[in-house]
Amino acid sequence: MKKKSKLRIKSMPRFISFSLMSLAILIIIGIASVTLVTHVASAINNQKEKYQASALLVDASTDETTSDQDIQTKADAEVTSDANTDEAQQTGTDDPLESIKIRLRNNDTEGLKVVFLTFDDGPSDHTGEVLDILNTYNVKATFFTIRHEGAEAEASYRRIVNEGHTLANHTSSHDYDLYSNPEAFYADVNALDQYQRQITGLTETSHIFRFPGGSINANETCVLGLVKQGWNYADWNVSSGDGGSDPPASDVVAQTIICGCHEHDVSVVLCHAESKPDTRAALSTVIETLQAEGYTFLAMENDFTYPRQLEV
Ligand SMILES: [Zn+2]
Repeated sequence: MKKKSKLRIKSMPRFISFSLMSLAILIIIGIASVTLVTHVASAINNQKEKYQASALLVDASTDETTSDQDIQTKADAEVTSDANTDEAQQTGTDDPLESIKIRLRNNDTEGLKVVFLTFDDGPSDHTGEVLDILNTYNVKATFFTIRHEGAEAEASYRRIVNEGHTLANHTSSHDYDLYSNPEAFYADVNALDQYQRQITGLTETSHIFRFPGGSINANETCVLGLVKQGWNYADWNVSSGDGGSDPPASDVVAQTIICGCHEHDVSVVLCHAESKPDTRAALSTVIETLQAEGYTFLAMENDFTYPRQLEV
């Protein structure tokens, strides 16, 4: 039997055994090719995802706040457009700045890196210097002014408006005693409103208000009365610490502001830079540092919600 079997194998036609061997080799080559192609495709895909992820990181930290930067590769532009698609679905716009504003209007602020710089009690002899620094970085801010007279003050009111900042109201007299007489208080606010319109030629002001000393120093009657007259009021959640008679050195002021902004999705920074040289010196450091970290500086608008010490 064994012999017979051997004979049968031996007697198998040579071309059949050759074909079987060829088929086996072809199958092995086929499997190897498919495996190789799969591996290469997967490696390319991984590489692409890594690139997109790193580009997205760059995009998140820079492009959103420096939309006017013209150094942007085609790849960056494509990734930016991908990143903004999600934002567009949420906010209905692919303009990053407008998207941030829509989120502020909806009070959808989680993860936002927005800073409102505010300067109280001006204009003063130094407002021009503050405006020059802001212009250097194309940063818009908010000026809670009181009534100051004279050619230089008038020029400052106009520059604030003409250079795209928000001219806001901090009463005409900055007199805390007015809180005990609501009607006199409203009249003082409206006197400044009229004065600002007269100097700047604005037909309508921002109707954004900050109580002297913050809303916590006012009372519910005055706060509620002002809100009913159509005013939006803003306190602050970051203080530069420059309000005292002996302000700290500029590097301390800068660090105070930067650290304060790191703690909030939306920061409202209280400065009295109008008359404090150390805050003015700190301003460039603050803006450069926070812009590099992806923060966006905005001027206040009436339909955003701001931090308040006294809510009514
Ligand atoms: Zn003040």
